Amino acid sequence: MTVLVSTWEDPGKVGIEAAWKARSEGADLRSTLEAGLAACELDPTLLAIGLGSLPNADGELELDASMMDGEDLSAGAVCAVRGIAPVISVARMVMERTPHLMLAGEQARRFAIEQGIQPRNLMTEENVRRYDEWKTGNAKNEYVHSLEESHDTVTMLGLEMREDGTPHVISASSTSGIAWKQPGRVGDSPIVGAGIYADDEVGCAGATGWGEELWKACASFRAVEFMRQGMSPQEACEAVVRQMRRRQPKSHQMACVVLAMNLKGEVGAATTAAEFPMWICRDGQIEFRQYEALKD
Ligand code: ASP
Repeated sequence: MTVLVSTWEDPGKVGIEAAWKARSEGADLRSTLEAGLAACELDPTLLAIGLGSLPNADGELELDASMMDGEDLSAGAVCAVRGIAPVISVARMVMERTPHLMLAGEQARRFAIEQGIQPRNLMTEENVRRYDEWKTGNAKNEYVHSLEESHDTVTMLGLEMREDGTPHVISASSTSGIAWKQPGRVGDSPIVGAGIYADDEVGCAGATGWGEELWKACASFRAVEFMRQGMSPQEACEAVVRQMRRRQPKSHQMACVVLAMNLKGEVGAATTAAEFPMWICRDGQIEFRQYEALKD
């Protein structure tokens, strides 16, 4: 059995379909999630992550990505990387080819190039146009968030039941961060415990939405720990979101989303605000779900 989860409507669909395609062609779980996120990053028509996504306040794209493997809690991440895609592949390389967990900025870019990724211009006509619109004060989304259907992050969860019957989970995330962010700003997505967490003893979780709030909540780790205490994925996500709504007043203002999956392949999600769309693929059967904001 393989269960895959992918966030947000348009990029999530691209991600889940590419991931399942890779899986059905024999990819292992790491490569499956990498393929899903890389497909989103490399699609210039998606105003979401990677190529053509919404830049920072200087009009430059700074990308973050991460992957965590629940087998031995190994993880890799990159943050604030310019001119490189797919950064999810670089995050995986950090995990597999260095003794470190995270590389940042210019040195992450240098590492990516050393590992064979060609630097490229990630800006497109459309995201330059959107940036100019924002700069002149004409953008609909003044501060932080990009379009509801696109979003700035794709987070994916994966579960496989191995031949010997043991479950294995992975979490991964890729983001351009919040649109028009201050240059150098890094959110939750590349942070283990905040944007992703995976542990084969329990399950896996991820986050998307307002990175500062999710990070303060250690949202993904907390969701996994709630599942460890016996909660279902849905209960765990709701418990994290309720705690955020109670303790973090700003979390009411914008979507802070937590998603989780246990070792049976049960999936849950909850959001502090707005609606949250998510894709789930069970052995090729793809389902779309929409979650309403919790009201306390
Ligand atoms: N969590 C991301 C960040 O704060 C943004 C998003 O999920 O849309 O960088």
